[in-house]
Amino acid sequence: CGQCLAVCPTGALTEVNNVSKVWDAINSNKVVIVQTAPAVRVALGEEFGMEPGSLVTGQMVAALRRLGFDKVFDTDFAADLTIMEEASELIHRIQHGGKLPLLTSCCPGWIKFLEHQFSDMLDIPSTCKSPHEMFGAIAKTYLAEKMGVKPEDMVVVSIMPCVAKKYEAARPELSEGPDHDVDIVITTRELGLMIKEACIDFVNLDEEEFDNPLGESTGASVIFGTTGGVIEAALRTAYEMLTNKTLEFVEFQQLRGMQGIKEATIDIDGMPINIAVSHGLGNARKLLEKIRSGEANYHAIEIMACPGGCIGGAGQPFHHGDMTLLEKRANGLYKDDRSKTLRKSHKNPMIKKLYDEFLGEPYSEKAHELLHTEYVARKKV
Ligand code: SF4
Repeated sequence: CGQCLAVCPTGALTEVNNVSKVWDAINSNKVVIVQTAPAVRVALGEEFGMEPGSLVTGQMVAALRRLGFDKVFDTDFAADLTIMEEASELIHRIQHGGKLPLLTSCCPGWIKFLEHQFSDMLDIPSTCKSPHEMFGAIAKTYLAEKMGVKPEDMVVVSIMPCVAKKYEAARPELSEGPDHDVDIVITTRELGLMIKEACIDFVNLDEEEFDNPLGESTGASVIFGTTGGVIEAALRTAYEMLTNKTLEFVEFQQLRGMQGIKEATIDIDGMPINIAVSHGLGNARKLLEKIRSGEANYHAIEIMACPGGCIGGAGQPFHHGDMTLLEKRANGLYKDDRSKTLRKSHKNPMIKKLYDEFLGEPYSEKAHELLHTEYVARKKV
């Protein structure tokens, strides 16, 4: 119904309710597939009176099937894909004298902030699309072909913790053309609303599994949802890509926790890699100013606009800046990571298959065409 629900943490965006668009798509004769971001699974339960941090992945999948989606997939799959591309890009920049630091590009909130406020630094973000956009690009090509569906007959819906993802999905470079990546974005709260509208007894649903091939994921992808998680996931893969050795201890505790800015030097087989992580745009500004002035010397940086990262997104159940609540959501994601047999993105068998059957190598020409993007300088506000 297009009414204002909340305001994005960047202060630049107003949330539009997309629930009716999703119902219309489900009731159309198109194939409607849905993907769910990592942070949604540890917060959706709160809409139904459950404890913050409760992991409700299985119930969420079951509810999405009952709502009428044709296939239920996982943005975590695309987070693993993002790591393949982003770790390759980092290695490429380190080995070929490219621009450093590399800034992770999953968060459209801070990307927009950068385009407005630091438009002289547009050569440092990774060119990787964010995971849900990568998912859309693969769904409208590889998956559509496998399913025998024309891209124009497929609707991709993203369930995100984020208001800024609605703006991101509408960026011209990501939304123009018949096979544009993502058609509709709704938030965790909007999904809660749909489940209530359909009178589904969410708490008592039996757990169900994601569909495949875009439903398989590793522990590395699920920690994307909390501050420090993207860079930790990238390091797990970059270490093994750079050294050809097995990384035994995958948890980088130095990059975890709710401190506004974290800095660490990670030893990759004798090579020191300087990392910084920040959440909240005030901290991002401080970090970027240190880089601009030459005061800081990092190889890679992760910036998330919301407090705690996506677990604290503006589309999540309201948290009112309660850091204890956000820590519970983060702990839910770390627990999910520890429960997985595979905890490194490059070990995901479906990702390997995707490269073998369709993309070729990570960072290949085809991968660039589908999975990478560009940024534009915008007027300072
Ligand atoms: Fe969206 Fe916030 Fe996550 Fe950025 S940190 S992607 S603005 S939810």
